[in-house]
Amino acid sequence: MADDSIAVVDLEQCQPDRCNYECANFCPPNRTGKECITTRDERYDEGEPYQGTEDQVWISEEICLGESCGICVEKCPFDAIQILNLPQELDEEPVHRYGENSFALYGLPAPEEGRVTGILGPNGIGKTTAVHILADELTPNLGEIGTESGWDAVLDAYRGTALQEYLEAMRDEEMTVARKPQYVDQIPDQFDGATRTLLEQTDERDVLDDLVDRLNIGPVIDQDIDTLSGGELQRVALAATLARDADFYFLDEVTPYLDISQRMTAARLIRELAEDEGRSMLVVEHDLAILDLLADAIHIGYGQPGAFGIITPPKSVKNGINEYLSGYLENENMRIRETDIEFEEHAPATNSTGQTVIEYPALEKSYGDGEFSLSADSGEIREGEVLGVVGPNGIGKSTFAKLLAGKLDSDEGTVDADLDIAYKPQYIDIDQPMRVDAFLSSITNDFGSSYWTTEIAQPLQLDPIMEQNLTDLSGGERQRVAIAACLSKDADLYLLDEPSAHLDVEQRVRATSAIRRYAEHNDATAMVIDHDIYVIDLLSDRLLVFDGEPAVQGHVTPPQGMREGMNEFLSNLEITFRRDERTSRPRINKPGSQLDREQKNAGEYYYA
Ligand code: ADP
Ligand code: ADP
Ligand code: SF4
Repeated sequence: MADDSIAVVDLEQCQPDRCNYECANFCPPNRTGKECITTRDERYDEGEPYQGTEDQVWISEEICLGESCGICVEKCPFDAIQILNLPQELDEEPVHRYGENSFALYGLPAPEEGRVTGILGPNGIGKTTAVHILADELTPNLGEIGTESGWDAVLDAYRGTALQEYLEAMRDEEMTVARKPQYVDQIPDQFDGATRTLLEQTDERDVLDDLVDRLNIGPVIDQDIDTLSGGELQRVALAATLARDADFYFLDEVTPYLDISQRMTAARLIRELAEDEGRSMLVVEHDLAILDLLADAIHIGYGQPGAFGIITPPKSVKNGINEYLSGYLENENMRIRETDIEFEEHAPATNSTGQTVIEYPALEKSYGDGEFSLSADSGEIREGEVLGVVGPNGIGKSTFAKLLAGKLDSDEGTVDADLDIAYKPQYIDIDQPMRVDAFLSSITNDFGSSYWTTEIAQPLQLDPIMEQNLTDLSGGERQRVAIAACLSKDADLYLLDEPSAHLDVEQRVRATSAIRRYAEHNDATAMVIDHDIYVIDLLSDRLLVFDGEPAVQGHVTPPQGMREGMNEFLSNLEITFRRDERTSRPRINKPGSQLDREQKNAGEYYYA
């Protein structure tokens, strides 16, 4: 073949004792006597490097006919095989391949001193692998399995590219690395003790007080790590990383569980460390408004998750995000998605046709001795609509949801509705040792029906993970299962708290349209709390806006149209957005810039 395609065997899935080698029995070259698909013991006998068990299959990429054949892919009952054409334009060798028939990474991001470099791309295409390489924890083999090419060979391969300088620095001196992990929820499993102790251990730059102050960690600094919420853990993890004295900082997703002003503070702190201290910052981020604000340049990652990933050379942030949204990479001449992701420049007309599902009076609720109190204006919620819920953390959004659901009694005003509410919490705690398919079929009798498959399983990409255990899922997989579980319930109101957390951009867009379609088709109502402005924009018919003082008092307006709602929400935050002229996507204005001032004067914060 076909040196423009690769064969990937998932060794977790390949179970020859249960399949009788259907793949090899039907492989056309095998049937003419060639050794295209063989067992690994034969490779082992030849002294080839060995991964997997002796009876698992090995596929010769030289002999294989490529993706257009794909017979083994169809025959394998466990979906263990992928045969994929690589883009024709790709004329380079992989920078690293984990083994024969395993994941291949092409290209590397190029961190630069004094700059913030972003990576934008789906989960599973090698972002972490690239960071292991740049942190000198993984010596790349340039695709030659069983060899370690050494940095000189890697430098030869990247001479004349944006990466040369970084690789030279890495070869010549010790590069120190500080890293913020993607899944902050796991920090309590790794650290036992007080928040202050953890932070003090990391304070190599003597900046802790400032970070604690700006990230508002003070109120929880004397609490044990295992009592912190996700948003608190995210800020502590960020402070712990930025307090280190390193040459290269890698931050894997900074926004999950943070509200918009916390996201902007995080972005500012990262930028300052690059600009003021000349450090190299590399960030993976799926909140595009924040990535836009944060990065000086971005690399797009694309490919087939789990099989191969390609990291493009750096692009300007504006063009990179635009190309990504349009689904077409210009320099690479590469289509990465069939359709583009579009934003409306003008506020949509409010759909007023739906029947009223709940009408509630003004409500008041306070906790304990009035440490926190919420007041809600009266309002009504309609059938078939999606309500975006916006406002800072700790302002009473969950409290309001519980009042509507009848799970909490109000002090003033009564919600007179007998509603079934399905709820997806912000932090997803699934520790049942149960398979995804068993879990979902225990929730709905529709499991596996063509309607359920089209409306829920497909957009949420559940097929590849159906047979996995809930406990083995990654954060993004867990999120998709939790959204599916919520939508699969028979309810009048679906309430989803931060469905975007840990989803990549592609998955956010698919989940958003699944929620919208589901509400429309089932005459149900969805209320979605989210802090990603792109998700709110794509999702909402109307907005519920919360403001006040977090942890002290909150107020919520009646549901309002998008223009009024966005104006109210963003004026509280003092943030204005402009539209990108090519894609109409919203971009945060620089505070104090001419546009920012003009829009504030005109009272148009979002739909200018
Ligand atoms: P991302 O950070 O973009 O989510 P990763 O770099 O973590 O992606 O992983 C990319 C792919 O590399 C994974 O889907 C996995 O299949 C493969 N992979 C990661 N680590 C190893 C390893 N040690 N051995 C074999 N394959 C691996
Ligand atoms: P949000 O969903 O906007 O983050 P919440 O409704 O969860 O806000 O919480 C609002 C405030 O009420 C927070 O300060 C929180 O600590 C406090 N709070 C929430 N639940 C309780 C409770 N059961 N008892 C006392 N205080 C609570
Ligand atoms: Fe054989 Fe390749 Fe066809 Fe698979 S895709 S059956 S390995 S020729």
